[in-house]
Amino acid sequence: MSEPETAGDVDPRATPGHIAELLGQVPTGLLIDGGWRPAETGQTFGVSDPATGQPLLRVADASPADALAGLAAADRAFPAWAATAPRDRAELLRAAFEEVLRRRDEFALLMTLEMGKPLPEAYGEVTYGGEFLRWFSEEAVRIQGRYGTTPEGNGRVLVSQHPVGPCYLITPWNFPLAMATRKIAPALAAGCTVVVKPASLTPLTTSLFAQVLLDVGVPAGVVNVLPTTASGPVSTAILEDPRVRKLSFTGSTPVGRDLLARSAPGVLRTSMELGGNAPFLVFPDADLDAAVEGALRAKFRNIGQACTAANRFFVHRSLAEEFTARVTAAVANYATGPGIRTGVTIGPLIEPRAVAKTGELVADAVARGATLRVGGHALEGAGSFFEATVVADVPAEAALMREEIFGPVLAITTFETEDEAVRLANATEYGLVSYVYTRDLARGQRLIERLATGMMGLNVGVVSNAAAPFGGWKQSGLGREGGLEGIREYLQTKYTLTPDPFA
Ligand code: NAP
Repeated sequence: MSEPETAGDVDPRATPGHIAELLGQVPTGLLIDGGWRPAETGQTFGVSDPATGQPLLRVADASPADALAGLAAADRAFPAWAATAPRDRAELLRAAFEEVLRRRDEFALLMTLEMGKPLPEAYGEVTYGGEFLRWFSEEAVRIQGRYGTTPEGNGRVLVSQHPVGPCYLITPWNFPLAMATRKIAPALAAGCTVVVKPASLTPLTTSLFAQVLLDVGVPAGVVNVLPTTASGPVSTAILEDPRVRKLSFTGSTPVGRDLLARSAPGVLRTSMELGGNAPFLVFPDADLDAAVEGALRAKFRNIGQACTAANRFFVHRSLAEEFTARVTAAVANYATGPGIRTGVTIGPLIEPRAVAKTGELVADAVARGATLRVGGHALEGAGSFFEATVVADVPAEAALMREEIFGPVLAITTFETEDEAVRLANATEYGLVSYVYTRDLARGQRLIERLATGMMGLNVGVVSNAAAPFGGWKQSGLGREGGLEGIREYLQTKYTLTPDPFA
């Protein structure tokens, strides 16, 4: 096995000078009614770089009172925004798309600094996240209804679509730009106003993006942003207020369940993008080169911290050793280090707790009989680093096979028959995404029908696309983001009956 690559120099786009200039541009207040302001309590909290543990900036820490001020602003802005011509809403989103891409260096660097992903991946997220702005600018002008005659011929049925009202959007830390644009863009396209609560670990990208929305002319109060360390009380204040009409949440399944329960008294529309436990199936007729490449992308993108990350690898017994040897050889070459350095594949995990949890999952699997093929350890020193890891022969009862890993650990087990593979893949309460590698067309078609997931990669390792409906089955969520479906989450239907005009 070759020696691991070492991280290279600091990327020329991420020098201390670039970082200081960038951080000087990030708004650090709460965005309420078109202006940045301190928290009503005067409180702030620190945001730090997971690669160094060093502080980056302090931002205002919203209280429940601030939350209600944000919701009031969204409520006041709603009638005018809902009445704004769809073409005008579309042009603002399109302008935001252009501006995010124009400022791609700033957004990419900021995501690497506050979240840790390697800089090239952060550039990839700018493209992906920006695409939701372009896609929903195009969808804003295609909100349609229908007109028909009742079967009896005695009336006319009109069906129209209307924005649901002020929305509360909660985002996670793992894709700081894309998770924000994937909610804000369809909401604004539909004519809704929003209050956004970013993850407390990564609020900076959302604030910079909100400033872009103000810069291109999105009116005051349409987008309000509330960084906070009091996500529970802030959310309660909003969810208990009758002015909010919808909650869209991306995050873990336990928090999603709790928020669903808290949305019940107000009978809110809800969209839930929750956790995953994706199976990755390699059949004996797979193109092994493609399967290895897809496996590495599906597992190690975002340092394994994606809801769509392949969590459980089921490889046909006939290929298992070769597949394992090839992914192990590739992973042994991955450089681990700060995402601003060149050549890095594995940046830091989001926080020290995540490093500890990843180590425990690997130790549990090994104690139950799994074989550690490469990696398996946290790195000493500053920053939350865990090596890229491959574990083989993982028994079904290992926690690695049941829990969402959210770290750079590729866990392999084997199967003999298609029925067994399907049974193992579906043996989870999650149902977000599955990956299948096979060259047998009929098998691929059977698996589309047999795997209980909202999305499937058939001979591909990454499925996300702004034009496609992203979302899960079972306890991975409710509703869809992106695609034709995404804007419908922010629209409500009205049916109007009129008499037969000829009667
Ligand atoms: P998380 O702990 O559930 O947090 C997600 C968001 O919810 C954060 O903004 C968090 O704020 C907030 N939150 C936490 N507790 C809350 C409460 N009691 N009331 C209201 N808000 C609360 O999840 P995470 O660790 O950030 O993200 C990882 C999870 O997200 C994984 O399970 C992953 O699979 C899932 N995810 C799903 C998708 C998808 O599309 N299906 C996409 C990305 C991630 P604080 O930061 O202040 O705690």
